Amino acid sequence: MRTINKRILLIVAVVVIFLFFTILLAFSMFTNAQEYALKSVNAHLYESGVLTNAGEIVDTNGIKLAYTQNGERKYNDDPDIRASFLHILGDNKGFISGGIQDVFKNELSGYNIVYGVNKSSDNTLNLTLDAELCAYAYEELRPYKGCIAVCNYKTGELICIASSPSYDIYNKPENLDSDPDYEGVYINRLYGGLYTPGSIFKVVTAMAAIENITDIYNRTFYCNGKDGTIICNDTHGEISFKTALNQSCNVAFAQIAVELGADKINEAFHSAGLDISYTTNDRITSKSSIININTSDSKSDIGWTGIGQSTTLVNPYSFLNFMCAIANGGKSYEPYFVKSAVNENGRKIYESTPVDSGITITPTTASLLKELLRSDVSDYYGDYIFGDITMCGKTGTAERDNKLPHAWFAGFSYDDDFPYAVIAILEECGSGLKYAGSAASSVMQELYRKTISG
Ligand SMILES: [Zn+2]
Repeated sequence: MRTINKRILLIVAVVVIFLFFTILLAFSMFTNAQEYALKSVNAHLYESGVLTNAGEIVDTNGIKLAYTQNGERKYNDDPDIRASFLHILGDNKGFISGGIQDVFKNELSGYNIVYGVNKSSDNTLNLTLDAELCAYAYEELRPYKGCIAVCNYKTGELICIASSPSYDIYNKPENLDSDPDYEGVYINRLYGGLYTPGSIFKVVTAMAAIENITDIYNRTFYCNGKDGTIICNDTHGEISFKTALNQSCNVAFAQIAVELGADKINEAFHSAGLDISYTTNDRITSKSSIININTSDSKSDIGWTGIGQSTTLVNPYSFLNFMCAIANGGKSYEPYFVKSAVNENGRKIYESTPVDSGITITPTTASLLKELLRSDVSDYYGDYIFGDITMCGKTGTAERDNKLPHAWFAGFSYDDDFPYAVIAILEECGSGLKYAGSAASSVMQELYRKTISG
């Protein structure tokens, strides 16, 4: 009898253990099903590691950027559009990380907890980007490395992104890893780039001056072409705060930076949102800009930092966001470009909600900066450069040891009926106005023509 009891107990124990593991496995399958289904080894979505069955991706005008036909992943017919969207879409083999074909694979594959992955997905991912404008901007960048982006500063919607170098996904060059012309080709420079800012940094110094030097608009500075180690681009003589920004006087801005001190400059850098690494609605993480000054640094180091020529490095995405905030009264939404995803029945399965970027600029400071950046164009660069657009902005010619400078332009349209901000950085070419200013102007004017013609 005792033996039988023992056997029954043993059987019960085995059954209980079996049930426990069965339930655990079922639970794991259920909760991790999405992950299992979307693994790149899953033949329904990938074939030999190549993305095949996924829905289509379209630009703001419904132009198809990527789609699946007869089990094959296809891209737009225009090679310039294909090249300008390489980083945005990612390649179909997963070499370029962070492409939306990868990070939005759930929405693209039509994953469903009951049915799993569709054999062929009819889902559509809608972008805010204008494909023709992206290709246009890509052409403006070439042959230089760099990036251009344009954002609606009222909504945070990006309408243009181009990053160079890139390549046509249908004709991948064989020498990508050895040819210096393709250095950093896998990086979308808008999010992953970090550059010496040069004089665009004077906008940060100007913001700190507006907030901390009460009589800044009544002050004058004296520039005889140099001050200690700081060399100016000209001999400006007696110069006001506004004219010093317009004409990008290094001596005046180095003096302003020294008067402010490291803490106030760091504070402005933070208020501008430059020290943030954004993880955007598009599931892309941008690099944080970097500043390295503290109160124990020499006047010379603080002066160089104030004119953007020290060890400071700026990320283009974060600086574009800063421009949006100035244009939009001190607040901005994190720039993004994936608007929504709909399934084959037209039902929305994803919709992005604009996210406050966390930039904290007072409306008064934003308004004063807006007028200063407007006067850069109207009083110095010349309105003729931007055609019919009433433009605000600042150029930067970031000097580098024994190399040609990086050219920058950061700005926005003054008129909020055409609410766009732009960032352009062209690496190792020369003058900010000549290279980045003209590229930014060209892209903004193309957008203006498209907007007017409807
Ligand atoms: Zn000067």
